Amino acid sequence: MSPAEEKIHHVLEANAWRLRTEGPDVVRWLTGGSEPDAYVLLEREPAVDRLTARCASCRQVLQSLTLVDGHLVAEELLAVRRRFAGHTCARADA
Ligand SMILES: [Zn+2]
Repeated sequence: MSPAEEKIHHVLEANAWRLRTEGPDVVRWLTGGSEPDAYVLLEREPAVDRLTARCASCRQVLQSLTLVDGHLVAEELLAVRRRFAGHTCARADA
């Protein structure tokens, strides 16, 4: 992949992660790129531009996320995916 293609790929990924600031909590897969996939619940925190990312299966808190102009920060989503890959899922033990 050329640097230009890589940049376009990165922009597309970032756009795919955009969330509206209104509406209910969202369950979604975070995929793409070289980081592990994560199945997360994005829980809105009232009155502040933040979300809490939880494991969609066991609801364990993975990471707090910042909304910048209504958009998630790509670096924080990468951190969520790494934490998801490393967390011990309580649901898997059940
Ligand atoms: Zn879990």
